[in-house]
Amino acid sequence: MHHFAYRDGSLHAEGVDLERIAAEVGTPVYVYSSATIERHYKLFAAAMKTVAPAGRTHVFYAMKANGNLGVLKTLGALGAGIDTVSEGEVRKALAAGIPAGRIVFSGVGKSAEELRFAVEAGIYQVNIESESELDLLSKVGAALGKRQEAVFRVNPDIGAGGHAKITTGSSENKFGVSFEEVGRLYARAANMPGVRIMGLALHIGSQIHEIDAFEAAYAKIVALTGALRGEGHRVDRLDLGGGLGIPYDIPKTFDYGPGLIEAYAAMVAKVTKGLDVELGFEPGRLIVGNAGILLTRVLHLNQRPMKRFLVVDAAMNDLVRPAMYEAYHEIWPVKEPAPDAAEVAYDVVGPICETGDTFTTGRVLPVMKQDDLIAFMTAGAYGASMSSTYNQRLLVAEVMVKGETYAVTRPRQSYEALIGTDRVPEWFG
Ligand code: PLP
Repeated sequence: MHHFAYRDGSLHAEGVDLERIAAEVGTPVYVYSSATIERHYKLFAAAMKTVAPAGRTHVFYAMKANGNLGVLKTLGALGAGIDTVSEGEVRKALAAGIPAGRIVFSGVGKSAEELRFAVEAGIYQVNIESESELDLLSKVGAALGKRQEAVFRVNPDIGAGGHAKITTGSSENKFGVSFEEVGRLYARAANMPGVRIMGLALHIGSQIHEIDAFEAAYAKIVALTGALRGEGHRVDRLDLGGGLGIPYDIPKTFDYGPGLIEAYAAMVAKVTKGLDVELGFEPGRLIVGNAGILLTRVLHLNQRPMKRFLVVDAAMNDLVRPAMYEAYHEIWPVKEPAPDAAEVAYDVVGPICETGDTFTTGRVLPVMKQDDLIAFMTAGAYGASMSSTYNQRLLVAEVMVKGETYAVTRPRQSYEALIGTDRVPEWFG
């Protein structure tokens, strides 16, 4: 379930009319429902608690999906940990008040500076993705007089996900160390002064609905755990990654029930039964995807012989998923259409000078007019977090709703800030 619905003829986020947000904050603007974020986190965390004894499961929200401080604060208050992939994300998690002891640091290309910052901050775990990173982490840890707890991210050679660009678990992908290498790396790490290996991690992709794909990968990591233990290595933790999918084609009455989450939890319980490990999970999209929309205004209607273009004020720099992944987003008019409203097919496009700046083609919508507001639904994950200033457009604003109130959690960037970050070379005087 999400908390975007029509009330008195206008689309609301919880108790707040989106017309009001558009009038007061302007468009384009992302709007998040804190109730939806809380609901999804609680559903997921509660289901994972059934998988292992108390205190043996940890949820690290993958902040790459949405790193807004309002989102992080909302989740931090519920006890969430955070999965980070850069020093910026570690810093932002700390700035949101997440204790370092609840932060995991993943990613294939961590620099020495980034690792130093994370180790010094005292984070819970580094997910090591290569032998070279193992060496670097130990060097960094030793220089700081610390043995950083870490796990090896393994590549199970089982890829899955809604698009080739978000599949990560295939041996073709850049992520993780191969199963064949882990034993040797464990043995090497045992003699390293700056790192303590606690277990294994994997993450096979994103937008996955097939429990079977997870199960196949998890069965492999469980078998690997047995083999490594047989060689005398310590495997106390398994970080099972994120990747659970969400529906993007939502009917207006859609109820996001716990079906997939429960099935996933039951599968994890079955696969890890009797293993005696701490389990980590890194959901991102599942927590925030349905909790956000991108609100945009119709700038122009361009009627050509073969097509009708609806030019809106949001563009691919604000929401890149359709251009990058051919992703589908429902489009809901903010003004509730009459049941018998006339409909036509539109290509919905943004103002950017690229044909790729197309949100959808031939989408049947109620007849629209200039200045109408529409919402791209299910835009809470990988929306604002992937936004940019391409075409020198201002970074999009973000708003969080709680009940009848809302807060601007990222004001729209100013032109002064946009231009002021550049520096003119001194030879221009
Ligand atoms: N963990 C890792 C290592 C990832 O790379 C990602 C996404 O790319 C996630 C977790 C979150 O995935 P999702 O948002 O699909 O749950």
